[in-house]
Order: sequence, then C-alpha cells, then structure tokens
Amino acid sequence: MKRDNGFLKRILYTIESSPLRMTQKRERLLDALVASDRPISAAVLRDKAGLPDSDLVTVYRTLEAFERVGIIQRIPLEESGCLFEVTEPEDHHHHFVCRECHRTERLDFCLGKELEERAKKLGFTEVTHLMEVYGLCEDCQPVHESVDCVGG
Ligand SMILES: [Zn+2]
Ligand SMILES: [Zn+2]
Repeated sequence: MKRDNGFLKRILYTIESSPLRMTQKRERLLDALVASDRPISAAVLRDKAGLPDSDLVTVYRTLEAFERVGIIQRIPLEESGCLFEVTEPEDHHHHFVCRECHRTERLDFCLGKELEERAKKLGFTEVTHLMEVYGLCEDCQPVHESVDCVGG
C-alpha cells in the first residue's frame, strides 16, 4: 500500500473514529511519523518532533496508544529495541533490516500466512506473526581491499 494523498486522511480518520484523545504533543509525534520515509526509533522520533529528552516516556506512551489503534507497526531489532512506522490498520508487511545502520527495505508480500495456518491446526487461536529479516546493507558491508593487478 503506497502513501498516496489519502494516506494521512485515512490515518486521521482511524484516529477520529477511535477513543484515542489527541494532544498537542501527540499531533507533533504523528506529524513526525508521517513525515519520516523510513521506520525510526523512539529517540529519533522525539528529535524529529522537536520534543526534549524528558519527553521520551511520553513518546513511548504515544506510540503504544497509536499501536492500539492499529496505525503503528513495530519492527523489532535483532539485539534490543525497535523501530516504529506509521501504517494503515489493514496494511501488513515485513522488512529487511540492516543490523548496523537500521536502514530498512519494505517487503510488500507476506510469507507468514502458511505458518499461521499451521499454528491454527495445532489449536492456537488469535494467531499473529512478526517476521523481519536482518543483514548488512550495501553501505555497511566491510570494505575488502582490492588487489591491483599490475600488468606488464
Ligand atoms: Zn546499513
Ligand atoms: Zn506477514
């Protein structure tokens, strides 16, 4: 699902039709999330929204509130922490994540449905899945010194 002109409208509509109360800070955080073209950490989000260090707890609470409404996808990092991305509630996708710089590439297909079906066959209900692929992006790969072949 692309971020067309209706994207922000649909996000705002989702918020308006939920019990979520918007405050000035939440508005600023939502603006910063929508303006970001890639998933970001809570600390980066706080910077982008121009909020002070002391507001980090507010940022996490706001992200949790947005997540409950279904407009946030959480992308866990390999070691610890996670990145956050604003998405439409029915938009489900995965990412390739660089473990060095946390650059992400979006994958617009899902390989998890079959796994969910298997879980259901085993008697699990309310089945969901998280699936991210980690590696090193082109920029973060160690540079191998090239051996110059001197001809002649
Ligand atoms: Zn990287
Ligand atoms: Zn999936």
